[in-house]
Amino acid sequence: MQIINDNLLDKERKEKLKELIEEIIQIKDIEECIQDIKGIKIIEENILHKDISASIKDGYIIIPINKIGNIIENSEEIDLIKSNIIHEIYHMKLKRILPKIHKKHKEAYNNEDFITSFTIVIYIEYLTHLESSKYETEKMIDQYLKSINDYNWDFSDDTSKIYLVKHAGYIIARAEDERVKNKNYILNLKNEILRKEIKKIQDILDNIKIEDNYNQLLPIENIVRKYITNE
Ligand SMILES: [Zn+2]
Repeated sequence: MQIINDNLLDKERKEKLKELIEEIIQIKDIEECIQDIKGIKIIEENILHKDISASIKDGYIIIPINKIGNIIENSEEIDLIKSNIIHEIYHMKLKRILPKIHKKHKEAYNNEDFITSFTIVIYIEYLTHLESSKYETEKMIDQYLKSINDYNWDFSDDTSKIYLVKHAGYIIARAEDERVKNKNYILNLKNEILRKEIKKIQDILDNIKIEDNYNQLLPIENIVRKYITNE
């Protein structure tokens, strides 16, 4: 796989990145999607969200240069880059399996239909994370779940409402990872509203199939509707 802008990296980092790509290419499950990737692009300006180390854009895996800075010294950084890339590739795979739902998401997003768009986000992030969280370290998952439980939830506030629907898919998939020690993580969430709603969404997700049919997401839409408006 070609690395664009690799002149920005020293020899050691270039090697490390190549090693990482070799590992990812070995994953049988995503072989066909890897063929669609045009290459890796090192970017100088960080356009990604602060918790994200790598993403896929226009067929290229993009990694901001500042995220590569300490991959030699800090193994957590390389783990994060790896799991982010794998997560994005699983998104590509899911897009092939559920083309209609992805198309609907794009349309809803463009039309500012936030209720439909967030409903789909919950479903696709849940399915994607079920696959990709295997490549996250135990520590990453624990830290994420702890940060959710410790967050200052206040459902009179819009931020908490958006945060709930935005994170529901990630929370449930990670809580279901077999390495999580607290098997009752969701039932033990401190905030009552969060606990109740996440549990409801989990029960719905556990009972729906991987099927390219938005109608089966309507029970999730009913929950999203309580927290998000299209106005
Ligand atoms: Zn995702």
